[in-house]
Amino acid sequence: MKALCHKNKKICIEEKPVPAPKETESLIKVTLAGVCNTDIEIVKGYMGFEGTLGHEFVGVVEKSSDTSLIGKRVVSDINCACGECETCRRGHPHHCPHREVIGIVKKDGAFATYITAPTKNLVVVPDTCPDQIAVFAEPVAAALEIQEQVKLKQDEAICVLGDGKLGLIIAMTLANAGFDVTLVGHHPERLSRLGQNMVNYATQALDQIFTTVIEATGNPQGLITAQKIVLPKGKIILNSTYHEGFNFNPALIVINEIEITGSRCGPIDKAVALLSSGEVDPSTLIDKTYPLSEGVQAIAKATEKGVLKVLLDTTQ
Ligand SMILES: [Zn+2]
Ligand SMILES: [Zn+2]
Repeated sequence: MKALCHKNKKICIEEKPVPAPKETESLIKVTLAGVCNTDIEIVKGYMGFEGTLGHEFVGVVEKSSDTSLIGKRVVSDINCACGECETCRRGHPHHCPHREVIGIVKKDGAFATYITAPTKNLVVVPDTCPDQIAVFAEPVAAALEIQEQVKLKQDEAICVLGDGKLGLIIAMTLANAGFDVTLVGHHPERLSRLGQNMVNYATQALDQIFTTVIEATGNPQGLITAQKIVLPKGKIILNSTYHEGFNFNPALIVINEIEITGSRCGPIDKAVALLSSGEVDPSTLIDKTYPLSEGVQAIAKATEKGVLKVLLDTTQ
């Protein structure tokens, strides 16, 4: 089978054998996969990962010990936890210290004809939800994690910093949940990508008017701005991971008694339910779909300035 691999700091299409699923895993024929900023970071050296890239995907189960799944269209939680350690038993499998992460840590990813994933991680996608929408389950789950972690009140003014893919998806999910959302970014034309969800837009972060600020710029300046525009006793949710450390004076965090919460992977089952309801449709973010055979070009395209979502048709 074909696979888009990262090896020796290069990416290339390789011929690989179809992977053999372990007892606890299923074999999935991938139909569509999404290129994420994390993939681009991996190519730059993030996590030191070598192997098949890709963690956002939808596909059809071909082999599984759970025969009810065979032939079903599925997405997968990307964290493959041990299920036995103290962290897993405390109910935090996304933080299992022994975990493999699909296409990111020690486990081959989805930019390939086939992938294996733990059967317990799979969520069946209803027929009403096309591949072009289901492929967003992983980033939508990450966006929904914010509402899992922090109890937001309906009348709060929420600011999302950053109008890249993640910022847009976070804004969509919060607006859909009825919150008053202001998206701050440099691409006002992207407002049209938000579909029917009502979001305010600003090209400049305004002074202290938000009770919650979500930092999704991927840029250290985002945290510095968040600290300035959040109200005293407010919250900052940090969705960005930064390349490296930076100079940051957290004085305002202390003076204004700000709560900071880091946020990463979320509930994939809730993401599938939301996407299937049609209330949130991130397919408006798709800029181009490439066949897997042109995966190297797809990654280059996704790296271009101004480009949002690039997909890979893994059947070609
Ligand atoms: Zn991703
Ligand atoms: Zn564990």
